[in-house]
Amino acid sequence: MGGSRNNNEGGCVMNAIFHLAKKLSFDPRSWAKSDVEAAELGWFPGHEQPDNPLRWGNSFPEGAKATLRNTQMRRNLGYATTKIREKRNTRVAEMPDWEDLREAASHIKRTTMARLPELLEEFEAKVTARGGIVHWARDAQEANEIAYSLIRAKGVDEVVKVKSMATQEINFNEYLAQRGIQAWETDLAEMIVQLAQDMPSHIVVPAIHRNRAEVKAIFEARMEGAPSTMGNEPRELAMAARAHLRKKFLSAKVAISGANMGIAQTGTLAIFESEGNGRMCLTLPETLITIMGIEKIVPSYQDVEVFSQLLPRSATGERMNPYTSFWTGITPGDGPQEFHLILLDNGRTDVLADEVGREALKCIRCGACMNICPVYQHVGGHAYNSVYPGPIGAILTPQLLGAFDHRDPAASLPFASSLCGACFDACPVKIDIPTILVHLRHRYTEANRGGLPSIWDVGMRAAGQVMRKGSRMKAAGKLAHPARVLGGPSRRIGNIPLPLVKNWTFVRDVPAPPAQSFREWWQERDEDPATTGHVDAHTSSGAHKTCGCGTGKNSPSAHGCGCGHNGAGSCRCGEEKGSRTYSIESAPQLRTGEGEK
Ligand code: SF4
Repeated sequence: MGGSRNNNEGGCVMNAIFHLAKKLSFDPRSWAKSDVEAAELGWFPGHEQPDNPLRWGNSFPEGAKATLRNTQMRRNLGYATTKIREKRNTRVAEMPDWEDLREAASHIKRTTMARLPELLEEFEAKVTARGGIVHWARDAQEANEIAYSLIRAKGVDEVVKVKSMATQEINFNEYLAQRGIQAWETDLAEMIVQLAQDMPSHIVVPAIHRNRAEVKAIFEARMEGAPSTMGNEPRELAMAARAHLRKKFLSAKVAISGANMGIAQTGTLAIFESEGNGRMCLTLPETLITIMGIEKIVPSYQDVEVFSQLLPRSATGERMNPYTSFWTGITPGDGPQEFHLILLDNGRTDVLADEVGREALKCIRCGACMNICPVYQHVGGHAYNSVYPGPIGAILTPQLLGAFDHRDPAASLPFASSLCGACFDACPVKIDIPTILVHLRHRYTEANRGGLPSIWDVGMRAAGQVMRKGSRMKAAGKLAHPARVLGGPSRRIGNIPLPLVKNWTFVRDVPAPPAQSFREWWQERDEDPATTGHVDAHTSSGAHKTCGCGTGKNSPSAHGCGCGHNGAGSCRCGEEKGSRTYSIESAPQLRTGEGEK
């Protein structure tokens, strides 16, 4: 274990660059340290282990600034998300009833949330009847304490683990490590993350930010007994991991898992996985401890049919994942003879209390929203500073934490989106992520009212006053007109280094004001009889037969030009009744209100 740190040459070069940059008054400290380490290790150092996996310290903009500097990570991420997306699209295109399945899944999850207390009690009763022991944990601390006491009672100092977001969320491995118990991750990607002392950056593919050359270097440096002849072909890497893990599977007395679903009707739990490591953990050890979020309940076995079609296709682009394991309590002589289930709340009931935000609890952790999100694809998972990255993280993390205060870094997450809606289209359970993002932004704004108004408050209030009156809008348009020169020939205004506008214009181009505003154009058009068409229409006795509004319709009620030829003599086009251009007497069909059909 432990990689070669003897790289004086690399260090000298980096030092020279560091000094040169210093002379040029450029501070390279933030990247120089990680670059030197990366050169020594063969991979970029991972994200350091946080105390709270739901909130790593920085706000999203700060996190994104740091991750955008890692070009290798961005290349790896771009390649991987494109591949998964293509596979997913192919498998989804094979399903003529895909939209119906999405609708069904959404309905099942929504009705489950409405009946959650009752279904959880039913589930507990069924698990207990089959020999399992159910524990309830209000928060991460309680869940960790319960699991630790169960492990300690077995007198072991290591456990094997199936990949689980619930255990990531509660910092389970670190909790055990501080008490002298080693938890071995057995999912390949989780194992890579664990060996690199990194944090996951995707909920399905935790090491998506690594390429195979990096994985090889990590194995060589950190994996006990890594073969010296190992290349960086996927098969060679998988074989090395297999040999490493096999020993752990055969010796472990206790296994830890999460669950994709818990079926209330029977007390059955289900895990969908691709590598078979889950099956090993669920069958070989004597004791199994499962930690499951309370939202993972489904009412009946039949509901699994819907999710088993949606989940593999959305997560990995497979028709069906290679290993699907179901277990119910304990079975004498077969598999673990002691089964504990820890039902985890950790903020979920607070999410449930929010009528709009609770939709986030429908999530089946497939990761499709991340693979399609243009923001996630560029900044990567670590920018979100939570184990739940991407669009689902942006709505789930702040809700689980109740983070809406502007001083809380996690409160920045609902703003980490362009609201393009791609996540909603990809989501197999139809979570309307953009709507929830907007709702959470509103909660943030409401939570931060009071005290001195921010610059945004002042700006928005001023804009509101201007937009409230046409004459003010007109004046504002005239005032903005000179800014046209800033656009130059491209008619785009770039970075304006002024205090109020620089944050906006630093990352966005703004179109220059046009030579003529819409308001001016409309007024000019109204004054020109040749362009309005209404003048002719209002003057003849057959007015609406020859209406020049261009709609081709001649019924006074349906011709749709919006000028208000409604037969009541109150034309909204601005012409006065009885004027040269409007004569209701000359249009008898208007008097009777019988327009031509
Ligand atoms: S929000 Fe939808 S797309 Fe994203 S991980 Fe959850 S289920 Fe999958």
